[in-house]
Amino acid sequence: MEATCYLHPEVAAVANCHRCGRPACAECIVRAEGTIFCSRTCADASRAIGQETRRRMEAARRASPAAWLLRVLLLGAIAVAILEWLRIVDLTPWP
Ligand SMILES: [Zn+2]
Ligand SMILES: [Zn+2]
Repeated sequence: MEATCYLHPEVAAVANCHRCGRPACAECIVRAEGTIFCSRTCADASRAIGQETRRRMEAARRASPAAWLLRVLLLGAIAVAILEWLRIVDLTPWP
């Protein structure tokens, strides 16, 4: 049995909503965020959630002491590597 639009039971659905999973026909689908939604409401809700998730991830990244420590360690390692390299270059006589 073919799925039909949630709004138009007599029309075959062309896609399922990315958010709520309802099948929707070509008339009803809304393209947003690179995907398909059954309605503007779902598209807007999904976008709001996406923005909230991004905002939270950004905040977590900024607040995480582990990530900060990792960055400092990485910079330290790079600095040591550069110093070591300079020392080697210094000691190596030119041919
Ligand atoms: Zn939907
Ligand atoms: Zn429809």
